[in-house]
Amino acid sequence: MLVKIYDREIEYEIDYRNIKYPRLEFKTGKLLLVLPRNYKDERKLIEKYKDWIYRKSLIIEEAKKKAKEKKIEERGEEELKNIVEKLAQKFAKELRVNINKIYFRKLKSKWGSCSNKGNLSFNILLKYLPYDLIKYVVFHEIVHLKERRHNKKFWEIISKKFKDYEKKEKDLLIYWFLLQKDIHNK
Ligand SMILES: [Zn+2]
Repeated sequence: MLVKIYDREIEYEIDYRNIKYPRLEFKTGKLLLVLPRNYKDERKLIEKYKDWIYRKSLIIEEAKKKAKEKKIEERGEEELKNIVEKLAQKFAKELRVNINKIYFRKLKSKWGSCSNKGNLSFNILLKYLPYDLIKYVVFHEIVHLKERRHNKKFWEIISKKFKDYEKKEKDLLIYWFLLQKDIHNK
């Protein structure tokens, strides 16, 4: 379905689920409305969040354009695991935190995550990324062992090590769409 917001035509899909409150997602690059069953006011919902949707769709369009210029690395899963584990130990020492376990899996909506128990999960698709970005993702997750949330203190620690962290975050989005597209084409 299409909706016009300002000067843009934005495509969206609806997914009805057994939930209480509606929410909006952009995880695969397309707007997804996750709605409670019987929910009928989708247009009102879009209207309410139109500025957020508009901004997000611009960022995603830019990322998709730039994805065409990026190259995918050829690296095996074992190689990735070695790289990540080495970096994780190094950064954990630096920040004086303890890692419990490291998992590798195919995460659907992120590059990495960190649990309350100190377990880290990394997306196996990281194997396609440049070394610099893998390094950033590992550091990002290790910092979460110190600061759970993306608060001011979190970004302070990040920016000390990666002055260009904003660019890194953008590049991660670009690679995300590049690989999504790749997967869908297969
Ligand atoms: Zn994070």
